[in-house]
Amino acid sequence: MPITAVTGAASGIGKTVCETLKAAGHRIIGIDRNNADINADLSTAEGRELAVSATLEQCQGRLDGLVCCAGVGVTFPSDMIVGVNYFGVTKLLEGLQDALQQGEQPAVLVIGSVAGNQMVGRPHEMVSAMLDDDETAARRIALDLAEPHTAYAASKYAVSSYVRQQAPAWGKQGLRANVIAPGAVETPLHQAAKDDPRFGEAVKNFVAPLGRAGTPQEIANVVAFLQSDQASFIHGSVFFVDGGMDAMVRPGQF
Ligand code: NAD
Repeated sequence: MPITAVTGAASGIGKTVCETLKAAGHRIIGIDRNNADINADLSTAEGRELAVSATLEQCQGRLDGLVCCAGVGVTFPSDMIVGVNYFGVTKLLEGLQDALQQGEQPAVLVIGSVAGNQMVGRPHEMVSAMLDDDETAARRIALDLAEPHTAYAASKYAVSSYVRQQAPAWGKQGLRANVIAPGAVETPLHQAAKDDPRFGEAVKNFVAPLGRAGTPQEIANVVAFLQSDQASFIHGSVFFVDGGMDAMVRPGQF
């Protein structure tokens, strides 16, 4: 039975990923701030260390999968967005690297966002600070800018870039890693953005060509496929699961 750790396990996409992978025969180690097998705050160094050590203990040093769903949206402070969405992923990946190498056909999946594509070709300086692993600088730039939507796009572009940068080395070690970039998905995070007086109208008016937001299950289905043996040659890719949003905005870039 494959052992898979899932962050953001208590809500939305992560919760549905846990249910879907469990039904596909995985043993799940859920990680979240509360209501999970491991309760840890991924916005802090201490919380990430706790998440890594408790996961290593529960999987006994051998992990077959890691799915990083935990994230915060534009209703959160900009520095928190950077802390959770970028460093809450990369520090876990680094800490669980050895355990993943012990796994059977190990695979990593990171949930990015179609919003990250706002940075393609013109990444904000915050992106470089994240990719340079400088959390203090990235948080400071994000706070100074005080634009949570920019911090969100930057965090998702940076974390997707991180996975692609690691792909050659990880591939040689037999570790697959991919990114899913969802469009709007009906979850508490999306509802909070729709309810926000600053962003609500824009979020509601930005509708995918398929005419609706997705469901968490529609994302979890793709996660389950990418984490399965059926996806054994897929590595270092970014998948848009967005009802056509990315094609609508960037028809010539792919
Ligand atoms: P959600 O709010 O339902 O779930 C996010 C989960 O992450 C929650 O359980 C929350 O407790 C957890 N989390 C947040 N901060 C944390 C922290 N500091 N430590 C530990 N856990 C923490 O939202 P969702 O929509 O299911 O989001 C899942 C992922 O999908 C996120 O990375 C989000 O950015 C991404 N995403 C969502 C949408 C959307 O429209 N819903 C679109 C694109 C990408």
